[in-house]
Amino acid sequence: MVLHRGPHGFGATGVFSPAEGTWETNEVTRPLRVAVIGSGFGGIVMAVKLKKAGILTFTVFERSDDLGGVWNENTYPGAEVDNFAHWYSFSFRTYDWSRTHPDQKEIKQYLIDTVDRFGVRGHFRFGTSVQRVAWDEVDKAYHVHLADGSTETFEFVVSAVGLFNSPRYPDWPGLDEFEGIKFHSARWEHQHDLAGKRVAVVGTGSTGVQIVEAIAPIVGHLTVFQREPGWLFSKGEHVYTAEERARLSRPLGYRRERFRYFYRENQKGWGGRNLQPGTSQNAKAQAACERYIARVFRDRPDLAKAVTPSFPYGGKRQVLSSGFYETLLLEHVTLVPSAVSRVTKRGIVDTDGIEHEVDVLVMATGFEAADYLQSIEVVGREGRSLRDTWNGEPEAFLGMSMPGFPNFSMLYGPNTNQGNVIFGLETAANYTVRNLKRMRRSGATTVDVRRSFFVNYNRWLQWRLSKSALATAKNYHKSASGRLVLPFPTNMGWYWVYCHALRLPATVMRRSRRNLDGRRRVATSARRPDPVSPLERRLSGSIGARLELPPPLDETAQITADSNHSSDPVDLG
Ligand code: NAP
Repeated sequence: MVLHRGPHGFGATGVFSPAEGTWETNEVTRPLRVAVIGSGFGGIVMAVKLKKAGILTFTVFERSDDLGGVWNENTYPGAEVDNFAHWYSFSFRTYDWSRTHPDQKEIKQYLIDTVDRFGVRGHFRFGTSVQRVAWDEVDKAYHVHLADGSTETFEFVVSAVGLFNSPRYPDWPGLDEFEGIKFHSARWEHQHDLAGKRVAVVGTGSTGVQIVEAIAPIVGHLTVFQREPGWLFSKGEHVYTAEERARLSRPLGYRRERFRYFYRENQKGWGGRNLQPGTSQNAKAQAACERYIARVFRDRPDLAKAVTPSFPYGGKRQVLSSGFYETLLLEHVTLVPSAVSRVTKRGIVDTDGIEHEVDVLVMATGFEAADYLQSIEVVGREGRSLRDTWNGEPEAFLGMSMPGFPNFSMLYGPNTNQGNVIFGLETAANYTVRNLKRMRRSGATTVDVRRSFFVNYNRWLQWRLSKSALATAKNYHKSASGRLVLPFPTNMGWYWVYCHALRLPATVMRRSRRNLDGRRRVATSARRPDPVSPLERRLSGSIGARLELPPPLDETAQITADSNHSSDPVDLG
């Protein structure tokens, strides 16, 4: 056992056990209770980072009976990550991956192992659904209402529910009358044996193509309904050899491999240029997809035409699959390049009026992703709900914070969907934990985002996104009005830069003198300023200016007295 300071330089002191890879930290200041909602990659990274920061008073609420989020819920045949494992994983957790693109079971096991290795399982509450979180201005805390009718209080709430938690069910006429088996891809009914059956898969997004490829060898006949094709790349997966596994699971090998993929991803189009029509990077990516189509369907021009999108590369999230096109060539597989017009007792009628009889109907129709955070009612200052504030148009500062919703942070929130999701989650979790540590050190009771930063940042986002290929096509990134509410416009490397550059100038912290129990707080440690890294300070000047945001304020000047509400103003200077 070795005594260390916190792993990020400042924060609580703690005891690190290298053998177990765990931190046992001591609370050095007042406890700060944190509720984390969701136990997927986001909830888990948050739990680990909180523990490393010495904030041990946190609870991770999970509505399911197990952890993993989408990797727990999506158990459909062929479910696997379409990104490289060493890149689609936590930077702080090396692992002995069996393949370049592990399947759902292996990823879930990775998450389970991570939770156990970092000793945070005790903080998880399974089968506990959060329904409402409401800010209490007097207590400077959120009341978290659970499905069983109970309420708990936390000073800070982190939503880690992600984008893909509510399956999108189609509203086809006649769907209820269908007499066969039907289910959504995210709620796969494993009790049904598909061997020899006539199966329809509706949807050719990332999920649909994986299912088609996986079930084609066993079904009797497969009908694939494609409403609109997307650009598709071959994944290039392989099973690692023993030598590769030994090399890549060592810390240095793991890091080198991560960096290789990071470089590859960014080099394809630094600043998101590969997703901007009219750029050479975009044309290059599209040409590669076209060559793939031409190669696979050289003898089937009808299929080549059917799978070729009419919008530029990047108009929908790219689909990665090494076997989908090849599967469409199989004799017992039929591609119906049209939408569903209605469902009958025996099958599906396409928009040409042709009925396709099937025994099983799989709806790989995606998720209500743009309806961000709809499953939970979040109520901020003056009783305003996030749902009403957004009115169907989710937005946030760096995808995390909303003015008027203090002490609330979202991971994988609005406009953060791009490239490596796990890297983005880690970046957002670090940002949130830095704010929490600052609160703890300074004795601040609320942390807010400045409205000017929120407004300017979103203005910049929408300006950048208006040039993106996503603006040219129909996709799940858009709200009902057509505003792009999910994607981040450039690489996640830039998201990292912005998070480091903008946290200090954009954040305003206030403190009240009342503790939750009503006693006056004697804040000695509160007067200690929180150290700011030189990088953060430099970036906050240069990027803030570039984005035409208000100039960064001095660190200490941001921790201001709370003059609006019931607490006494405190001068921290
Ligand atoms: P999706 O990309 O939204 O695709 C849904 C598909 O269903 C689309 O082809 C869509 O057609 C079609 N569809 C939707 N409603 C329909 C309707 N009423 N009638 C006919 N067709 C309909 O959803 P997804 O495939 O589940 O993927 C969602 C996201 O999850 C992905 O973009 C990716 O980010 C993530 N994902 C990741 C992995 C991974 O390996 N990491 C795997 C799976 C999913 P249109 O295109 O015409 O709308």
